[in-house]
Amino acid sequence: MPTFLLVNDDGYFSPGINALREALKPLGRVVTVAPDRNLSGVGHSLTFTEPLRMRKIDTDFYTVIDGTPADCVHLGYRVILEEKKPDLVLSGINEGPNLGEDITYSGTVSGAMEGRILGIPSIAFSAFGRENIMFEEIAKVCVDIVKMVLEKGMPEDTYLNVNVPNLRYEEIRGMMLTRQGKRAYKERVFKYLDPYGKPFYWIAAEEFGWKAEEGTDYWAVMNGYVSITPLQLDLTNYRAFKDLRYLEDSP
Ligand code: MN
Repeated sequence: MPTFLLVNDDGYFSPGINALREALKPLGRVVTVAPDRNLSGVGHSLTFTEPLRMRKIDTDFYTVIDGTPADCVHLGYRVILEEKKPDLVLSGINEGPNLGEDITYSGTVSGAMEGRILGIPSIAFSAFGRENIMFEEIAKVCVDIVKMVLEKGMPEDTYLNVNVPNLRYEEIRGMMLTRQGKRAYKERVFKYLDPYGKPFYWIAAEEFGWKAEEGTDYWAVMNGYVSITPLQLDLTNYRAFKDLRYLEDSP
């Protein structure tokens, strides 16, 4: 019976993580460790300067007070599982997509990245929708992917960024391996005044959008497919070596 370590960045109370936990239970043991609040956009941060406390919510279900998704992976693996590797680290289902450069901010994807750093095959799941997300339907797709990966495996140093369209299970057109796309929006800094007349600022995007190039993550979900982008930990830009060789040649 496989063991799964399940984390997210939306908080332990989010409908996405609870739908995925329930859908995974028939497959094996599901150890859930999630932050106590919404940390979307927290990226891959690990808490080094503060103590962390864990609260038990139910059997195999914990929250980390002030913990990040990467903290949750660490405490789940090292404390709850006592360093016995789970078969998969799963992160999500995130309430909203993680496409293109979102990956670099995403706490959801960072949960999977942390699992991979610890040597465990990992998958991040996100829902391509903003409201009325059908998490039970999306969880069925996640379970299909989990079953296939358990059976066939995943290459070393690889983790998956999965985005599922907000459609009924039957309406989904299939799975598609994709490349990371590009955002077509920028955040703005909004300025407001507090009750004392002092300014404060809010970084936010007014509208979201991505470039719809064929073969990208965004293109797949826009066309009703599940987008599966294989990611790697090695961020080296190998193509740049040739163009930057002059740096080595300088005196
Ligand atoms: Mn989130």
